[in-house]
Amino acid sequence: MMNYSALKDWHNSHKESALFRRYITLNTIQPLLDTLSNLFSVAVLGYSVENRPISKVTFGTGPIRVLGWSQMHGNESTTTKALFDLFHWFESNKEESAVIRLLTEFTFTMVPMLNPDGAEAYTRINANKVDLNRDAQDCSQPESLILKELYTSLKPDYCLNLHGQRTIFGVGTPPKSAIVSFLSPSQDALRTVTHSRKKGMAIISDLNEMLQEFIPDSVGRYDDGFNINCVGDTLQHKNIPTILFEAGHFPGDYDRETTRVFMFLSLIRVFESVLLLKSEETPSSNSYFSIPENKKCFFDYIIRNIDLPEIGVTDMAIQFEEKLVGAELNFIPKIAQIAELVDFVGHLEIDLEAQKPRFSADFNFEIGTIIEKIQVNGKLPTTFSVKSNNLL
Ligand SMILES: [Zn+2]
Repeated sequence: MMNYSALKDWHNSHKESALFRRYITLNTIQPLLDTLSNLFSVAVLGYSVENRPISKVTFGTGPIRVLGWSQMHGNESTTTKALFDLFHWFESNKEESAVIRLLTEFTFTMVPMLNPDGAEAYTRINANKVDLNRDAQDCSQPESLILKELYTSLKPDYCLNLHGQRTIFGVGTPPKSAIVSFLSPSQDALRTVTHSRKKGMAIISDLNEMLQEFIPDSVGRYDDGFNINCVGDTLQHKNIPTILFEAGHFPGDYDRETTRVFMFLSLIRVFESVLLLKSEETPSSNSYFSIPENKKCFFDYIIRNIDLPEIGVTDMAIQFEEKLVGAELNFIPKIAQIAELVDFVGHLEIDLEAQKPRFSADFNFEIGTIIEKIQVNGKLPTTFSVKSNNLL
């Protein structure tokens, strides 16, 4: 296996610098696609509802076919950044024996942006307001058809379904943020551990082992309820091992620049794991079920013991709504819960110790109300805002 600490260091100084933060659109990636070296071949597969091109990037000459796609949900861009980091890594290290091996064992086909209209609008859905990850059977959308035609013609041996998840997910007790989550999807309602599913589980076990070194107790296992309308479940149903990646929240990293590196490392590890699997008769997937399941137990902020008019002393949760304003992504703090939140954790928490904060007389204590700051007499106001990492 490669040295993942060294890979992490490489990423830190060599990641694709043209891509950063959360708002990644076709305009951002097209110049990169246009200038990829001759190690890669780029082809347009078709067009989105709003007529944006959807491209695939192919590289490697080997017999094992891996198909991956990112930004099927337009606002989930972390894995897109990681894919371009991966391209950059292959290009920069193509003389290294470990990289030569990957390029001769595999043919990689990657679709960096399956939903360019959603990416532009910063929405999960496409321009027809359809969730492409619920359209695997109907294929009512051009983007879904493009993916279906691609996997039908390519007949991949493995699929990578690359997504991002919200800040609400935690793992373990007491919960830690689910920085990365994975799933080997079910292929039937009974969630049978079939041979194909088992392969995915073995790879995820291996990914988890690698990641524990960097983000201990922060890797989650996604819910495996079967839904044939999801692309991963459909592919697994066709006996193609499929791995769902969910790039999650590293505390404080709303730009997802830290999670990005773990996605990059995980992509490389998948390829190494596949080679390892090839040499095994029966994959050992035992530790998959010991990865803790994702729980919805986090809010961006929790204000403990706040004394509210007519309610009394309670807790208040604040969740950011991500809103595109022009070309800038804003994080709008909104009231998400007012209750005793004993089973929940805030990525940031403050305890007001039963004090009454100052609010204007007409302030509306309701779910969805924007709340930018809280001031308790004699103290500086606590402001709810997202800080950028200033990594540029
Ligand atoms: Zn998603």
